[in-house]
Amino acid sequence: TRPTASGNLPADLEAFWMPFTANRQFKSKPRLMVSAKDMHFTDADGRQILDATAGLWCVNAGHCRPKIIEAVSQQVATLDFAPTFQWGHPKAFELAERLVKWLPDGEYSHVFFGNSGSEAVESALKIAIAYHRIRGEGTRQRLIGRERGYHGVNFGGISVGGIAPVRKFFGSLLTGVDHLPHTHNLEHQAFSKGQPDWGAHLADDLERLVALHDASNIAAVIVEPIAGSTGVLIPPKGYLQRLREICDKYGILLIFDEVITGFGRLGSAFAAEHFGVMPDLITVAKGITNGTVPMGAVFVRKGIYDAFMHGPDNAIELFHGYTYSGHPVACAAALATLDTYEEEGLFQRTKELSDYWQEAVHSLRDRPHVIDVRNLGLVAGIELESIPGKPTARAFECFLKAFDKGMMIRTTGDIIALSPPLIIEKSHIDQIVEILSDVLGEID
Ligand code: PMP
Repeated sequence: TRPTASGNLPADLEAFWMPFTANRQFKSKPRLMVSAKDMHFTDADGRQILDATAGLWCVNAGHCRPKIIEAVSQQVATLDFAPTFQWGHPKAFELAERLVKWLPDGEYSHVFFGNSGSEAVESALKIAIAYHRIRGEGTRQRLIGRERGYHGVNFGGISVGGIAPVRKFFGSLLTGVDHLPHTHNLEHQAFSKGQPDWGAHLADDLERLVALHDASNIAAVIVEPIAGSTGVLIPPKGYLQRLREICDKYGILLIFDEVITGFGRLGSAFAAEHFGVMPDLITVAKGITNGTVPMGAVFVRKGIYDAFMHGPDNAIELFHGYTYSGHPVACAAALATLDTYEEEGLFQRTKELSDYWQEAVHSLRDRPHVIDVRNLGLVAGIELESIPGKPTARAFECFLKAFDKGMMIRTTGDIIALSPPLIIEKSHIDQIVEILSDVLGEID
């Protein structure tokens, strides 16, 4: 039987254990995408579905772009695989060279490749701890994340991640991890009222952790410039700057997890540039290949790389790498993706569209149940008031209704997250808001 978007799943399609809660939610009402082009998916019923989430913050250049298809096809046919443990292939070098040129101030000199955001985070945490070790600062092992931070699902990422029930569930995680408070306080800081400017005060909590543990025991702080997966939490003004100042003061490395914000989402190549704060390490994934082939990466500041190559004990190498690090097909996809971003000026376009986007999403502020609307670049979060005891119900109902009306959104808790492909036209923005407005009027 042909699977349908709306009917029950045929028994022979039951075996796939889907990630997260999708397993239950999906199987109660299947939604199968069979093809995609630019701003739209086509589902198994042949319906066009407007993609208001860029896949999952991935396809910044839109779906199935010709140049990327061509590059991947050619690469598979030419050099399908070459592990980078003791060999190499030119595209990995070419890609790293191009990427470091995209980063501001020429300070990031090297790129470490993996296959996902979770692996990029794992790599960055290890690099941070190893960096202090090779400099003879072996006690610097503690890591600091942030409440409501999301850094993927590997054990390191869960440990520094700020989703308390998940940490509790798995129990034995990395030891020596603390969390800064999150930056989201609806009562006092609802973004709809204007971006709050007391970020420096919030970041000062890092001083408290330094006083508690002594800086000589702290390796790194990791934060997402905008916490995406937990509800598009945009930091108050001054927050990231103050974190940078405190890290500098105590020799603590600062890691930005830019898996979502990287590659143009805010109108600059990276959020580091947007906020004018340069971390020591940057993790990326998703938009690096436009979602076409799995890939993640860590950008490393020159001083850190140099420490490994020329440090006092250069016998200690970083014991870390993946079979598929710098996979030729992923590198080919990434190079063609960078071409597409550049040739089409997609980051500039994001900047130009962001005012229109802002006005459009804020027009939803007065719709039923909406308690906050947050936006920056081409991302937005629409927070709904929860039904007591049902913290995800309203947004999930919106998700289902939006899908029925031909649009894919992402929800997290009772927050609707929007992050369309950067090729979006104003007419699509109008359509997104129109559908959401209708949906919000229909839910209980
Ligand atoms: N870090 C951040 C900030 C993310 O948003 C995500 C995924 N949404 C990850 C890490 C994990 O990436 P992946 O799912 O590719 O492992």
